[in-house]
Amino acid sequence: MATDCIFCRIAAGEIPAGIVYQDETVVAFRDIHPQAPVHLLVVPREHVASVDDLSEAHAALAGRLLTAVPKVVAEVGGMDNGYRVIANTGPDAGQTVHHLHLHVLGGRALGEGLVA
Ligand code: 5GP
Ligand code: ZN
Repeated sequence: MATDCIFCRIAAGEIPAGIVYQDETVVAFRDIHPQAPVHLLVVPREHVASVDDLSEAHAALAGRLLTAVPKVVAEVGGMDNGYRVIANTGPDAGQTVHHLHLHVLGGRALGEGLVA
């Protein structure tokens, strides 16, 4: 765990967050500044800075992170019509928290554009 990392601290239960799902590998919670009616963050418990830091050694972790998404979605509800999964990676993508996370956005039609 990186003690200066907000998502490590949320995953460890040190900082409160609206946790909606957790298992031994993954934690999901509500984004503090939601950009859609449902806006969740799905993170591994292990500190990995971004998608760009993934290697073969993270294959199981990456698989668990992605396969947690439909479980989280089923748990939270409200996304029967679909949702979008985004992993901002690095400065050009506007990544602000340097702990790997998937944004799960839904609850309304999100439009066709992937980028602003
Ligand atoms: P990024 O821009 O790095 O892809 O997304 C980071 C996200 O984390 C942002 O949408 C931001 O609102 C969210 N966030 C930042 N700090 C906290 C926090 O302390 N709690 C929660 N629940 N979300 C946070
Ligand atoms: Zn971390």
